[in-house]
Amino acid sequence: MATCIHCQASSQFLTYDALGLCHHCSPQHAPVIAEAIQGVSVSAAARTKARTAAAQLEALQSSFEHCSTLERYAGLRIDGAEPVRLRSELEAIRTETVEQAIRDHWLEARERARDATTPKAMAAPYGKAISKLQDLAGLLDDASAIDHAVIVLRAEKDALVFEDLFRQAQLAEQQGRKSKARDLYVEAVFLLRKDGTPDADQVEKIALAEKQIERLGGRPA
Ligand SMILES: [Zn+2]
Repeated sequence: MATCIHCQASSQFLTYDALGLCHHCSPQHAPVIAEAIQGVSVSAAARTKARTAAAQLEALQSSFEHCSTLERYAGLRIDGAEPVRLRSELEAIRTETVEQAIRDHWLEARERARDATTPKAMAAPYGKAISKLQDLAGLLDDASAIDHAVIVLRAEKDALVFEDLFRQAQLAEQQGRKSKARDLYVEAVFLLRKDGTPDADQVEKIALAEKQIERLGGRPA
């Protein structure tokens, strides 16, 4: 015997509609379900048209809300599938959208940093990528993928800037510009101390640069 997907009543004296609602529940709940199904398809269309990851995630957020409405009806099936399956499909799309955004921003930052000629210009595109990704994090319940990417991006930026300053310092020294070399080593240490996470790799780099500063006569008084 059928069981109502809202009140769970199961009786031969009840009639059930195509969704599985009993005739008591159907007038109130059939429109709610119809509206949510419509909402899922409208938000899917909006997502397809969206040009930015933020717009895609906003459309997804709307899909999730409609999906939650549908999940309140235990046993409801739409096109033969349960809303739970819709949720897992939406989650997969969200994961892919976030991963794609991370890849895109990362690639862009790397390409722009490659063309940069100063440490500041090298760091800037990474800063921009990080801020764009952090904006996306605000649209997610679970931003751990973005948090992780931000840490990796910061470390990559710090390493690039450090290497560049270190190279410039070595070059200055080869050219006999000792005080310029020392200033660049000092700047390299300053950047590492100011920014990024103090990991073991960073500690080694700081020590390496400090050694050069010491060798060149120490910091100016
Ligand atoms: Zn009912």
